[in-house]
Amino acid sequence: MEFFGDAERTEINDVLDTGILFRYNHDEQRNGIFKAREFEAEVAKLVGANYAHAVSSGSTAALCAMIAAGVGAGDEVIVPPFTYVATVEAVLMAGALPVFADIDETLCLSAEGIRKAITPRTKGVCLVHMCGQMADMDGIMAVINEHNLILVEDAGQAMGASYKGVSTGLWGKTGAYSFDFFKIATAGEGGVMVTNDEQAYRYADSYSDHGHDHIGSNRGMEKHPILGFNYRISELHAAVGLVQTRRVPAIVERNNVLKKRLMNSLGEILGLSFAHLPDPDGDSATFLNLLLPDTDAAQRTVAELNAAGVGGFNYWFTNMYHFINQWDHIKYLHTASALPIEKFGVPQDYSNLDIPHAQDVIGRLISFGIRATWSDDEADALASNISDAITKAISVEA
Ligand SMILES: *Cc1c(COP(=O)(O)O)cnc(C)c1O
Repeated sequence: MEFFGDAERTEINDVLDTGILFRYNHDEQRNGIFKAREFEAEVAKLVGANYAHAVSSGSTAALCAMIAAGVGAGDEVIVPPFTYVATVEAVLMAGALPVFADIDETLCLSAEGIRKAITPRTKGVCLVHMCGQMADMDGIMAVINEHNLILVEDAGQAMGASYKGVSTGLWGKTGAYSFDFFKIATAGEGGVMVTNDEQAYRYADSYSDHGHDHIGSNRGMEKHPILGFNYRISELHAAVGLVQTRRVPAIVERNNVLKKRLMNSLGEILGLSFAHLPDPDGDSATFLNLLLPDTDAAQRTVAELNAAGVGGFNYWFTNMYHFINQWDHIKYLHTASALPIEKFGVPQDYSNLDIPHAQDVIGRLISFGIRATWSDDEADALASNISDAITKAISVEA
């Protein structure tokens, strides 16, 4: 979300010049302008996917990823308790039953956490790569393969990240990225589902547009191989998304320089550590993820940062909508009308979960958003502010 310029304007004007804001059909009027298709090609190239399908949001991309992978009504799906809530919503909207498992210092589900949550009804895992980083894929793939589970990845905040050279989002059967306003690349609103599986791609393509098969040029006469709904992206959003996607490699490169600089200056602080990076070379570096010695120290650090007027960070444990402790509406299923889970039965006691590592790690975590637009001096000033706050917070303890 840092960079906008003439390139975005040019692409939008292409669409406005023809007036065809709809991604399909109207071949005579659109003058060869297909921004959604170009956007998809750009994302596929960036992450190395065989197929990419753009939709209206990251949330709907996650839902399409779930449906296209064959996860549906009554299936248990293992999810993390630390994620943007859309992951859990997507499982519920698919009619499936979220089962919360524990995470580790990668900030993602751990192989051990997944293993403990498996039951005879487990169909799949929705793994979320949090805070621009990546999960420990070797360990996780071993459990997935051993138990023959379907892996779906919500890489909503990790586009541009990878593990051992394979992009987050492409380890599983399907994956999803978000292009909302807060992500590394934005379309205003938008999302992209990716896969290397042709059938999964076809399902997502149809599911997100009332089941249309998108064959031929007469929309009214297209066939509908499956049921679907409308999760289409508009040409205007796709036009912005495609330019933004091209900017990602440069943003990732600069973010990494800044993150290393910050980590080097903070590395000497006694008691401070960083979220574990299973593959440091694959970091999208959108966040500097600090781990304080304990929750008290983290909360005192937050207070010191606030007192000093230092912003730009998230304390997810209490201040953001990304941790299960804040999700009473999910824990107690406050719904406007009944969801399938209310008929199937809740698979776990959501208000009494055994997730000790999540409670510990998220209690200790403070994440600073990194902006590729920062100068080195700005990064150094931030490091010094963080250092002051932590030193004060930790010395109180001593
Ligand atoms: C942002 C985000 C989403 C939702 O994306 P939207 O485009 O806002 O719908 C889903 N999952 C994760 C992990 C996210 O960070």
